[in-house]
Amino acid sequence: MTHIFPRHSKLNAPVAVGGEGIYLIDSTGKRYLDGSGGAAVSCLGHGDAEITAAIKAQLDQLAFAHTGFFTSEPAEKLADLLIDHAPGDLDRVYFVSGGSEATEAAIKLARQYFVEKGEPQRGRIIARKQSYHGNTIGALSAGGNAWRRAQFAPLLLDVSHIEPCYAYRLKRDDESLEDYGQRAAQALEDEILALGPDTVMAFMAEPVVGATAGALTPAPGYFKRIREICDQYGVLLILDEVMCGMGRTGHLFACEADGVAPDILCIAKGLGAGYQPIGAMLCTSEIYDTIANGSGFFQHGHTYIGHPVAAAAGHAVVSAILDRGLIGKVREQGAKLHDKLTDRFGQHPHVGDIRGRGLFRGIELVADRETKDPFDPARGVAAKIKKAAFEAGLVCYPMSGTIDGQRGDHILLAPPFIITDDQLDELTDKLDQAISAVI
Ligand code: PMP
Repeated sequence: MTHIFPRHSKLNAPVAVGGEGIYLIDSTGKRYLDGSGGAAVSCLGHGDAEITAAIKAQLDQLAFAHTGFFTSEPAEKLADLLIDHAPGDLDRVYFVSGGSEATEAAIKLARQYFVEKGEPQRGRIIARKQSYHGNTIGALSAGGNAWRRAQFAPLLLDVSHIEPCYAYRLKRDDESLEDYGQRAAQALEDEILALGPDTVMAFMAEPVVGATAGALTPAPGYFKRIREICDQYGVLLILDEVMCGMGRTGHLFACEADGVAPDILCIAKGLGAGYQPIGAMLCTSEIYDTIANGSGFFQHGHTYIGHPVAAAAGHAVVSAILDRGLIGKVREQGAKLHDKLTDRFGQHPHVGDIRGRGLFRGIELVADRETKDPFDPARGVAAKIKKAAFEAGLVCYPMSGTIDGQRGDHILLAPPFIITDDQLDELTDKLDQAISAVI
């Protein structure tokens, strides 16, 4: 019996003992193609000697120094590297240990900014339905996944959830994608006006929605309009790139593709690439200076922020993404993956939509292609495909999102950036095998 609290009490998980490139190996020697990089984490694959060497060197030099007393070289270097490449006016970095910590910190930073700015009435967050921002109380409050929120509802903050930008389901036949993008963004202005503009502090969204919607990309112009609305009403734009950031979509920061920059940006997962737990929150100097010139410090913090070993790993990972030309690879292999998925599943009676950017791809499964009706949640289609794929030696990330209160099934693919053409074929074959076994 395991004494570890497993994710699921009925999960009889194999023991992972090794990793080589895009494969994971269990204690029986079985190999699994890591088609989702865990949960869009392992962007460099497993066993990357350069990253482990950077971690070992840092451990030999200095394992830990508390940020209440010290800064450290790796944290400073990583912050410089991120800011050198960050969009817009983002020029300050706050390190954390993961995605939920980044979004939670972003919520608190937004609030403290307005308090120190003399607008303490601004305390409302607007986010979107069918989104996920993490599992701590603030982050879970911002997330719009009904199923994840349900049993914790009495503990959650009062966050407004507007409709997501979800062309496959919400675009009308008589409107263009661009027009739909404008209409979807209008929901933000409507909600700001309904709440009272001077009460709203931030709008939080994922540029490309991951876990709850299977690589759902925004309509062209959507985020530009969102940015304009935020500016018009003095509302901060927080972009959550925990899953879609760090090169995953073919840009180091996903929002670059939409031509917008947020006031606060959250990253994690691919930043440590699984080699170390690390996340970060980037913000503008307008926000930083308001606090620095006010009370002087952000009233937040965790013991392990800016951990030198995690920062050394993050620096090695981001350097590898940039220096090895991996962003170009993501675009190239991502386009091939999209074509392979379209060839294989484009006419499948239960595949409604194939979407995504770069090596962040999603398939939406439906009971009926014509009506787009989702499967009955009781069938547990996503979970069964995950199981069948795993048995066939493929790790993919099937998730149930929420569509108008009903659960819908998606498969998310986010393989390591080093995936080859043959491995893309292996991924597609195994996925086909798993889907055919279930629906
Ligand atoms: N935001 C997004 C968009 C995520 O996908 C996730 C994790 N799936 C989180 C936040 C939370 O990150 P973590 O699990 O590292 O706390």
